[in-house]
Amino acid sequence: MTTMQTGSLGDVGTTPATAAAIEQVEAHAAHNYHPLPVVVEEASGAWVTDVDGRRYLDCLAAYSAVNFGHGNPRLIAAAHAQLDRVTLTSRAFHSAALGPFVEALAALAGKDMVLPMNTGAEAVESAIKVARRWAYEVKGVPAGQAEIIVMEGNFHGRTTTIVSFSDDPDATTGYAPFTPGFVRVPFGDAAALEAAIGPRTAAVLLEPIQGEAGINVPPPGYLRAVREITARERVLMIADEIQSGLGRTGATFQCDNEGVVPDVYLLGKALGGGVVPVSAVVADRDVLGVLTPGSHGSTFGGNPLAAAVGLEVVRMLAEGEMQARARELGARLHAGLSALIGHGVTAVRGAGLWAGIDIDPAVGTARDVCLRLLERGILAKDTHGQTVRLAPPIVIDEADLDLLVREFRAAVGA
Ligand SMILES: *Cc1c(COP(=O)(O)O)cnc(C)c1O
Repeated sequence: MTTMQTGSLGDVGTTPATAAAIEQVEAHAAHNYHPLPVVVEEASGAWVTDVDGRRYLDCLAAYSAVNFGHGNPRLIAAAHAQLDRVTLTSRAFHSAALGPFVEALAALAGKDMVLPMNTGAEAVESAIKVARRWAYEVKGVPAGQAEIIVMEGNFHGRTTTIVSFSDDPDATTGYAPFTPGFVRVPFGDAAALEAAIGPRTAAVLLEPIQGEAGINVPPPGYLRAVREITARERVLMIADEIQSGLGRTGATFQCDNEGVVPDVYLLGKALGGGVVPVSAVVADRDVLGVLTPGSHGSTFGGNPLAAAVGLEVVRMLAEGEMQARARELGARLHAGLSALIGHGVTAVRGAGLWAGIDIDPAVGTARDVCLRLLERGILAKDTHGQTVRLAPPIVIDEADLDLLVREFRAAVGA
């Protein structure tokens, strides 16, 4: 039996329907999350409705997986049409849906090839395998010795190999033994990266902006320095744009904002339009070409339903409106939030429609602020104690964005 906590901020106004739904989940779903006390029943655009009919502005957008809004009509139509044709063939056969998707995604990224997978973690795992093979077969690193440089504060997913190079105890405790072959350096420090590169280095794996760590933006010029160093040292630059990419920061990729082209893009989250899990490794033939039949695979990777939705996502991004919208609305969001610094807020970071807001401890924890926002009809999520992260769907309108800033100001008591 589960005892509902009472008396905490978020339970104020919790109704029988909400309490029953939460209790059912607590009783039978593993407790690997600590959700805010709201039970969503349906959603449209930037708004969700709970089991009691109360509406909330979704300012998390499933960690950017819902960049184009809940129930985006174009994406739902693409999914519906494909549902009636064929949804799964496996890669044992070709499907008519896969070709248009991989061609369009490669073109969007300016690369030759796409390896379609499902979740973000799978894209990262796949890139690790590709980078190691590339190191042995192309660069000539001695067998079994390839190293991949990663960043302090990284978040790349939850598989055993990926948590092997995490420095977050919440992600690693109890999961040893870990996969070797990774070297961690401080994020934002190009000199430390350069010093860590040796003859066995296959790749540098990094988030252009660290999402989970608190929307950490590296110093200006850092990504360009990483590009210059990796190109000179013949090391692959792998940009994990799973959260930062596909419109969120006002560009197709956050690397675009820094004038940088990595060797490998990792995509996920919004690539599935909030409909199905779709991820991808995108790179040129000299990199992805190391994969040969049987050397890697996925039963669901590149399935027709995923490809149909992913193609429509790529078509939308090719038009550029989402990126422009995130840029313009993002400036409005950051102007509104920056005015709160010194009034319950100690720092605001981010790019485009993405913000990490550090809460003054005098005001409470980030979770306290998220619970207050919930009462005010705003969904947001804390990360690492004192940071609230905001990533509203890009389809949000100006009035709703202003509502978000107003309610945020009230929630921090400014
Ligand atoms: C979410 C995320 C992942 C993992 O994606 P999943 O689909 O949850 O496996 C990897 N990298 C980054 C930067 C992410 O934000």
